[in-house]
Amino acid sequence: MNKDNILKSLEDIVGQNFVSNKVEDLFIYSQDPGASEPRPVDFVVMPKTVEEIQTIVRLANKEIIPLIPMGGGLTLSGLVIPIKGGIVIDLKRMDQILEINELSRYALIEPGVTTGKLLSYLNENYPDLQPAIPDAPPSATVVGNALIHGSGYLSQKYGNHGDMINGIEVVLPNGDICKLGSCSISDYWFSRGPIPDLVGLFISSFGTMGIVTKLSYKLFPKPKMRDMVFGLCKDVNNIPNLVYKITYTELAEDILIGKADKPDYMKGYNTVMVYITGDTKDELESKRKMIKRLYRKNGAQFMNMPERVMTGLLEKPQFAAAAADFRKGGGFEYVGSFLPLEKVPEACEKAIEISKKYNIIPTQVFRIIGKGHCVMFAPTFAFNRADPLDMKNARDALDETNKLVLKLGGIPWKAELAGQKLIIEKMDPNYKNLLKTIRNILDPNGIMNPGNWEV
Ligand SMILES: Cc1cc2nc3c(=O)[nH]c(=O)nc-3n(C[C@H](O)[C@H](O)[C@H](O)COP(=O)(O)OP(=O)(O)OC[C@H]3O[C@@H](n4cnc5c(N)ncnc54)[C@H](O)[C@@H]3O)c2cc1C
Repeated sequence: MNKDNILKSLEDIVGQNFVSNKVEDLFIYSQDPGASEPRPVDFVVMPKTVEEIQTIVRLANKEIIPLIPMGGGLTLSGLVIPIKGGIVIDLKRMDQILEINELSRYALIEPGVTTGKLLSYLNENYPDLQPAIPDAPPSATVVGNALIHGSGYLSQKYGNHGDMINGIEVVLPNGDICKLGSCSISDYWFSRGPIPDLVGLFISSFGTMGIVTKLSYKLFPKPKMRDMVFGLCKDVNNIPNLVYKITYTELAEDILIGKADKPDYMKGYNTVMVYITGDTKDELESKRKMIKRLYRKNGAQFMNMPERVMTGLLEKPQFAAAAADFRKGGGFEYVGSFLPLEKVPEACEKAIEISKKYNIIPTQVFRIIGKGHCVMFAPTFAFNRADPLDMKNARDALDETNKLVLKLGGIPWKAELAGQKLIIEKMDPNYKNLLKTIRNILDPNGIMNPGNWEV
């Protein structure tokens, strides 16, 4: 690999202002806000068009240099920090909302469109429509989040964000452009079927299958009013049944279960947050009453929250997004995971033990995805980046939680490199072979985010 030639070629493709190999520019791309160790990057490039991406991909094949597609870079699990060096393709300049189809309820977007941009665009221009977005900082991209099976405040009602994808346009590892979904046949990006559904290959594959350059994202009706019914539940063993009963009524938009030892008055309780929506005050009030009744009958109790706290809890994205750097030099990472509902009590208790073992204040959140079909279980480990022992503790706690999740029958989500290895160890050998075969066919030179999902 001749680095000077590569720099010159990249400059020819995107222009001098949008490529760099300077240490001071690469610094930020060599790390993320999570607990991963920094890793070296050779180049960063910021293309504006699909054609530029195609040319970069062809160059990478010629030079056999890794390509790492990046949206907001906010997964916290190091997914856009190169494992084997190479070119980070920062997609932020491709930030156009290309179409809103109001009747068929989808948005066609470029990969750099952030969750904040889509949300505010819809609020201003289509106030009856809303996107499913994560409780992440608004600079996270819709595409990056959908491509990792993200979840957010519409997940109980409509599922994870991978399910929101109607179709994609992707630059394959050989530089060809391919459309998947109804858009491969029609001008309408309204569905993934009824043809063989290959979109799934590109979800949670962490940029190893190609670079998504357009994506159709489902939009949903936005009821006029939103509220939350706050509950407390002392015995975590009651949670699965309580959730089962609430999801049965189809009353909730979002259900979050939390457990935190801080502030002190929360210690020992599980918080239950059931979000409800409606078009009239009466509708909201009747839903509120029904949820309160379900709390009473299923081992929980309603708690009136001060308006100030409530305002924060109703924000989109929620306060958690602001917690990313709550101590100077600090940060956090969590093992998100997909878990069966019945495993919540055991996961909760064991995750508390892990936190205490590593001297971290126990903090965890569960978000219900679908009608209780799956739970996003997220024990969170805060750290002070300036303290090596704190960092080691966080990494060890993450590793132990990954193992716990797999033992309980769950799967770590957006797993960092060590977590991916644990998942692969447990994976059915024929699934591994299939994955390997597909990757070898699509990417014979192994240029797409190598090191991830290495089977
Ligand atoms: C405070 C905080 C709160 C959070 N809360 C939530 C939450 O509630 N729900 C949730 O789901 N997440 C949450 N997260 C995690 C994180 O925000 C999401 O994972 C984020 O939305 C990912 O989007 P991104 O643009 O940062 O993706 P990136 O980190 O840039 O990319 C994610 C993965 O997708 C790949 N990728 C990105 N773009 C493309 C593309 N165009 N083509 C091919 N591959 C691509 C990357 O290579 C990488 O492997 C939170 C994070 C923080 C810091």
